[in-house]
Amino acid sequence: MPVETETDVQALFEKALALSQTTGFSTRERYRADIEDHFYYIGAICPQHFRPLQNEVVNLPGQQLTFFNFSFATWLYLLQDAPDSCVEQLMQRLSRADRECPSDILEMMLAAVGTPAALTAIANYAERTRTQKVFRDLGFWLPGGSKSAEPRFTRHRQAVRFQPVDETLSSDELVKRTHPVGLPVSFVAEGPAQDVITWHYVTLDLTQIDGLPGTPFSRIHLVSPPHDGMWTLCCAISAQNLYRQATLHVSEDEDPNMIERLREQAAAYQHAGRGEVLLLPYDDRLVYRNGHTQSTVGVHGDVGGPPIGLYENPCCPVCGKLMFHVCTVASMLREYGDGFRSAFLCEECLQVASQATGWN
Ligand SMILES: [Zn+2]
Repeated sequence: MPVETETDVQALFEKALALSQTTGFSTRERYRADIEDHFYYIGAICPQHFRPLQNEVVNLPGQQLTFFNFSFATWLYLLQDAPDSCVEQLMQRLSRADRECPSDILEMMLAAVGTPAALTAIANYAERTRTQKVFRDLGFWLPGGSKSAEPRFTRHRQAVRFQPVDETLSSDELVKRTHPVGLPVSFVAEGPAQDVITWHYVTLDLTQIDGLPGTPFSRIHLVSPPHDGMWTLCCAISAQNLYRQATLHVSEDEDPNMIERLREQAAAYQHAGRGEVLLLPYDDRLVYRNGHTQSTVGVHGDVGGPPIGLYENPCCPVCGKLMFHVCTVASMLREYGDGFRSAFLCEECLQVASQATGWN
């Protein structure tokens, strides 16, 4: 269905409500996925057309909201800056004892609004119900003492598209590109950090990404240790954008053979997959499917937007605050290990975390 005008979006919304009555699991799920693709697209291209529906959607029965089953990344752009009446309605629904809608859906919708009223409501609700972790997983820091929730991500998103470079290009030239992929580890780390890092996915020039907090460093590096599975690698970064100390947390026991194999792989493929990343606007040239844009040729993820929340978002090893999400890409960007790779930073303590999760 077209979604070019407010009337189109209204018609799509009504169609979606009608489809929520569908019985039959597989047909229902097919409709649902198709509806989410449409609304994900609307959130990216024309969220203003959804504005008039914000009040209505927060009042929908749980049965319909459960049918939609939108991801947080979809709600985030549909409910952005919703009026305070929406926040009040969501809070009322969350405090009702006979709740007819799963609380995780209502919590996600509340978190998506992002206004001062919503951020205060999140803090009060999370402290009362001890659900701080729910909001931390969505990317919100709760300082405690009834202080407002603080989003640790930016809503400005850009798609990450890989572009190979000429094989003869030297690393000294590659490093001059805005967002290089496949640098030698010695270009991004020094001292003890060099022993922990075996792989470079991408370096991002932070000045090209809107909505980030100010930092004394201007580039960060998404890198990997010789580990697969889930891990978080926190590095202290210098004002010259080099990683110095590195601390690795691995979430599960790992086969020592795998570590050895990944070390060998890093050495054998050190010149493979070199290129650079281009940051593309969220416009109608991207393919919006399954809550992401990675069906677009060459696109492997995003800078900006919320963290994917498949694994606990890292807190700064120095100050303890939830770190700021910068990017999440698939490991295929420069193949090493398997799953998503994310970068986070703490602007106060000069810390950058690279994090790996499985696919879901
Ligand atoms: Zn910190």
